[in-house]
Amino acid sequence: MAPVTDVDAIVVGGGHNGLVTAAYLAKAGRRTLVLEARDQVGGTAGSEGFAGATVNICNCDHITFRTTPVMQDLGLEQFGLRYDDIEPGGVGMSWTEPEGPAWAHWHSLDATLGGLARTHPGEVDGYRRFAKRAMPAAAAILAAAAEPPTLAGLTRLALRKLFAGIPTVWAWSRRSAADVIRSYFRHDALTAVAMASGPMVWGISPELPGTGLGALGYAMRHVARVGRPVGGSGMVPAALRASVEHHGGTVRTGARVAAILCDGNRVIGVRLDDGTEITAPVVVSAADPRRTFVEWLSHAPAGADSLIKRWSGHRAEDGYESKIDAVISAPPTLRGSEHPLSSTHTIAPTIAEMDAAHRQLGAGTVIDRPALFVNVPSLLDPTIAPPGRHVLSIEILLTPYAHPGGWAASSEPRRWLELVDSLCENDLLGSIEEYRVMTPEVYERDFNLPRGHATSFAGGPLAALRNPDPELTRYQTAVPGLFITGAATFPGAGIWGASGRNCATVVLGTTG
Ligand SMILES: Cc1cc2nc3c(=O)[nH]c(=O)nc-3n(C[C@H](O)[C@H](O)[C@H](O)COP(=O)(O)OP(=O)(O)OC[C@H]3O[C@@H](n4cnc5c(N)ncnc54)[C@H](O)[C@@H]3O)c2cc1C
Repeated sequence: MAPVTDVDAIVVGGGHNGLVTAAYLAKAGRRTLVLEARDQVGGTAGSEGFAGATVNICNCDHITFRTTPVMQDLGLEQFGLRYDDIEPGGVGMSWTEPEGPAWAHWHSLDATLGGLARTHPGEVDGYRRFAKRAMPAAAAILAAAAEPPTLAGLTRLALRKLFAGIPTVWAWSRRSAADVIRSYFRHDALTAVAMASGPMVWGISPELPGTGLGALGYAMRHVARVGRPVGGSGMVPAALRASVEHHGGTVRTGARVAAILCDGNRVIGVRLDDGTEITAPVVVSAADPRRTFVEWLSHAPAGADSLIKRWSGHRAEDGYESKIDAVISAPPTLRGSEHPLSSTHTIAPTIAEMDAAHRQLGAGTVIDRPALFVNVPSLLDPTIAPPGRHVLSIEILLTPYAHPGGWAASSEPRRWLELVDSLCENDLLGSIEEYRVMTPEVYERDFNLPRGHATSFAGGPLAALRNPDPELTRYQTAVPGLFITGAATFPGAGIWGASGRNCATVVLGTTG
């Protein structure tokens, strides 16, 4: 007879991926418990109150979430989740020409080409060639992400006429993103902006071989729509939590898992940091994999020795991004752009500077002209700002984890604000009423990201087939009953939910 357990499944971590897994498990009738260390769910997909406003932890341009069936499957609209589409989906500028002209990146390819014909006529042909090659590859990646990656699954994709994209996925995944992008574009406003929202947001140099799929960003935005949840990014985890609870699951916040318990053969539950033990035959870790396997496993079966040894050998990586949230009295406009800041404006350093920024991380310094993602989300969604005020969001890359003298005393954040101010028509600095700075040490302290590193699965679906850490693509681990999801697993970072959904498919398909 099976032992009586407190619940059927425990999910460790209530980020959006953990909540997606939990909601599918609860919907399938499993007694499911989510344990989240923070006092609210959502992790880096969440929103917080600040100075009377709602601010997002992430930049909140959601591209991939609505490409999955998660919203429909889990009834998230019924729980209050609505999206605003953002048009243009992005605006690009480079520090080489800070006065512009900026170019707009619309969902419609024709509208984008039409705009480029005015702002960067020499790039129109390259963009057309790029789109022809890259859009099928972007579509293939989105389709591949919708199920756990297997050779059989990729073969099915090929049969579903998505084959057109697969040779590009194969060829580009072996090149560097910078190499790919330079074969289509010449102007920094095109090449560098693509790299800023590609490898740079993953904290790696665009010159690194194997990063080629990081060149697909523009194509992704023609295949999928950029949107923001009305009320802030946190509406996604809030709706997911409601879905878990609606289907009979339980979500506990302020519950920090200290150990994943095994009986020498398989998983049997978890222990919280206050000593409470909760039993379950299935545990899904939706938190950092290295912590999961190296720090939390207790009395693991002998079959997991090589898993634990392999992950012990993985160095914990350093965080590399920062964000400023401000409440402002008047929305700024950028001199070089004719578009409102409801759309994220990317101001990118050259690819050479990005490469230098990556090498400089070890010394703890930030390059003179970092990549900036600037938007005023309250222009589109006034519900997030206090009456008569606006919210300014600036993401800054690359910013090191270990900064000489520490981040609290650093003059860097003020310099980033001055850099944005130098691009504005109006007095941005004078309009700031309150601001807060999120640096890697804040993400480590407040969001439980080891060394402040927001992780991502490296590579695309083909890399997934030959990944040296198979649990990141199979969601199943060498410990019977222990599963893993989250941004470190396929298909990677972003408010996407595909990893959470794939993990639920594996759990439901392999456990009774
Ligand atoms: C500055 C920044 C900007 C970004 N901008 C965008 C963007 O514009 N668009 C986009 O799509 N993506 C963006 N992202 C990426 C995106 O936010 C993440 O990839 C995604 O939210 C990761 O979700 P997750 O559920 O996998 O992990 P997380 O959100 O990290 O969730 C993990 C959860 O586990 C919890 N946890 C950890 N340890 C324990 C424990 N011991 N016990 C219990 N709970 C625990 C954590 O508190 C956390 O809630 C951005 C990220 C950052 C940092």
